[in-house]
Amino acid sequence: MSTKTEPKTAWIEEELASLKEAGLFNVIRTIASPMDAWVTIEGKRLLNFCANNYLGLANDPRIKEAAKRAIDTYGVGPGAVRTIAGTMSLHIELEKRLAEFKRAEACISLQSGFTANLATVPAVVGKGDVIFSDELNHASIIDACRLSRAQVVRYRHNDVDDLQRVIAETTEYGRRLIVTDGVFSMDGDVAPLDKICDVAEAHGIMLMVDDAHGEGVLGEGGRGIVDHFGLHGRVDIEVGTLSKAFGVVGGLVAGKQAIIDWLRQRGRPFLFSSAMTVPDAAACLEAVNILQSSTELVDRLWANAALFRKGMEEMGFDTGHSETPIVPVMLGEAPLAQQFSRRLFAEGVFAMAIGYPTVPQGKARIRVMNSAAHSESDIQQALAIFGKVGKELGVI
Ligand SMILES: *Cc1c(COP(=O)(O)O)cnc(C)c1O
Repeated sequence: MSTKTEPKTAWIEEELASLKEAGLFNVIRTIASPMDAWVTIEGKRLLNFCANNYLGLANDPRIKEAAKRAIDTYGVGPGAVRTIAGTMSLHIELEKRLAEFKRAEACISLQSGFTANLATVPAVVGKGDVIFSDELNHASIIDACRLSRAQVVRYRHNDVDDLQRVIAETTEYGRRLIVTDGVFSMDGDVAPLDKICDVAEAHGIMLMVDDAHGEGVLGEGGRGIVDHFGLHGRVDIEVGTLSKAFGVVGGLVAGKQAIIDWLRQRGRPFLFSSAMTVPDAAACLEAVNILQSSTELVDRLWANAALFRKGMEEMGFDTGHSETPIVPVMLGEAPLAQQFSRRLFAEGVFAMAIGYPTVPQGKARIRVMNSAAHSESDIQQALAIFGKVGKELGVI
């Protein structure tokens, strides 16, 4: 019998204290303005290079207007889970338009990208089945795989030979699934989905890609990674998020009609958690309208990212091997990255330091998220500040 007298949750306080000691405690900044190219934090205006607001849609007047109009027509809440009474004409219209936009047979919307993964993996594999998973997959894929109770076999990051090796070595299975991020969020590299797709087809293995950072970014006018590689109809499941480039919040799964129908029957976050709210669904619909009407924002995003990357490289910074608007500024040790981020903040740039365990030891960095919201002069200003801090800290 325990003789301890301290409260039974005292261990949590000890854990929190040790996180703080190790410099691993998340200090969360509070934004007191719309999410945009510039944000207000602690009364200070800062150039924002942290958000996943790739296209600047989070504060777009057309989208705000659409959300307000929808509230006037439909109210705010969906009222129930989708299968009971929470499916509104807005949700159906959003799914139809997303499927069209992505050139997919069908689409289902969920509350977030995270729940889209949780809905999908356990619906297609279970006990006795096998999942081949990239070692750097997002936490929501990892959790979805665990939830499925299938055996998880990891393969080396973006390594198709290693994928083939683990497939060959895994001889006992029921159903099989390959799952990968589309764009890896810490390095900005892109999965070789065309080659992975060939392997999946050669072995008759289901293929799922989580394109959270490619949605609205990759492909023609932001149609995503399947469009980028021209793999329409060949990737079984494409998960996406409406919380990043789309500027709102929500998740989606696109693919064959049968798979989407199945998720409506078996996706647990679909069956047991309420639908996207009215303003969210309406805002996402308007985001699809904007993306479908012009590639201007997506083009500007890529132009801004190219300008930023070129400027950083010319100054002598190491920007890793990103192929997307995510630009890691490689610094090495975590304390240097944290110091760099604090100095940027003091100079008027909001950009996050990322260290272990999110990235490997010795690979700490500032992760720069470019956006179509930035003007050219915003980027020039940011480059000047990066240059100043880089020289001051002996990085360049
Ligand atoms: C951000 C992200 C998610 C989560 O998306 P939310 O809509 O924020 O829940 C899922 N998967 C990947 C790969 C992501 O980068």
